[in-house]
Amino acid sequence: MNAEGKKMSLLVKITIGFVLGIVFGFLVGPKVAQTPALNDYVIPFLDFVGKIFLTLLKMLIVPLVFASLVSGAASVGDPKKLGRIGVKTLVLYLLTTAVAIVVGLALGNLIQPGVGMNIEGAVGTAKEAEPILKVLLDIFPSNPVDSMVKANMLQIIVFALFVGVACIYAGDKGKRVAGFFDAFAEVMYSMTHIVMRLAPYGVFALIAITAAKYGLAILAPFAKVIGAVYLGCFLHALVVYSGLIVAFCKRSPLWYFKGIREAAITAFVTRSSSGTLPITIANVRDNLGVSEGVCSFVLPLGATINMDGTALYQGVCALFVAQAFGIPLTLGAQAHIVLTATLASIGTAGVPGAGLIMLTMVLTSVGLPIEGVALIAGIDAVLDAARTCINVTGDTAVCAVVAVTEGETLKV
Ligand code: ASP
Repeated sequence: MNAEGKKMSLLVKITIGFVLGIVFGFLVGPKVAQTPALNDYVIPFLDFVGKIFLTLLKMLIVPLVFASLVSGAASVGDPKKLGRIGVKTLVLYLLTTAVAIVVGLALGNLIQPGVGMNIEGAVGTAKEAEPILKVLLDIFPSNPVDSMVKANMLQIIVFALFVGVACIYAGDKGKRVAGFFDAFAEVMYSMTHIVMRLAPYGVFALIAITAAKYGLAILAPFAKVIGAVYLGCFLHALVVYSGLIVAFCKRSPLWYFKGIREAAITAFVTRSSSGTLPITIANVRDNLGVSEGVCSFVLPLGATINMDGTALYQGVCALFVAQAFGIPLTLGAQAHIVLTATLASIGTAGVPGAGLIMLTMVLTSVGLPIEGVALIAGIDAVLDAARTCINVTGDTAVCAVVAVTEGETLKV
């Protein structure tokens, strides 16, 4: 079988793993508590398989991002070009995030997911946000090894950019160092493909556990808020990302979604943008044809600060909580949410459940009760799956657009 055939079959296998996992989880879910074999063996085994998959993905992140970004930055060659890519990326990330919150707020107003819940509660008090200068200071690593140990992505990005640019200025020896990282990055890509072979099983295990835990009985009372978040994510991908791909890349949305499907499914089941990063990079590089220079900068940055799905979810949830507690939200307050949710989403780590914690900040900023977070917590994993999928998809769309505006030709 040729390489293309193999890739197709992996994609199909992952999709099959995903669908079977959901069916299996929903079927066995209600029986777990009364069936010792399921409770003691099957579920722990699935948990074990899912965790191995996740751990192997995490194992790849730091060396892959560092090596590919050093070699990418060095290959771009011109520090000014790097700066231009950086500005474009940030602007696109911010714009798409702001649009996502507006979509979330619009659906929250339209669907009114919290109306009729009539919950009484105290009004929250505003929490102090971290001073912006401290946040900016934190992206500079005082000890890059420590940054790598802690997998602090922004600090790793900054250090890798420095090393890459320094390679350009360091003449022959710099070329040798860049060459080493280029080769090392290639080895890490190849390791990513090895780990991806486990994806169908990891995907099956992770989604089966989630489906078993969240049966329809648990989800039914929250059907409207779940529906609003899922519909919002779907519309955002369909309109905003497809629109960007058609307008800038002159490619069909089908081509795009097919190219990034492995990353999207992995994000959905792992609920972690950071954990998905190796697969995101592999998909965008191999299937969309974006260069290493652009991928290695835009995607790790996106996995850390670009969270369109999280922002959209915060818009829907703020209205859900306001409606559930019977507190009217003025248009001014909703405009305020656009700002705080954008900041909150930037500050959200790419790990499961991080968006729920940041929701506290959004709620308190407009005086909504933080008890609302507890209301959402019970079903948050289900919302997290959709928002993480959109977080990752958003990174890939921006990456493709940046590549095209830098004169790259994407695959057909
Ligand atoms: N789980 C999300 C992510 O990794 C973050 C969130 O909880 O909203 O992108």
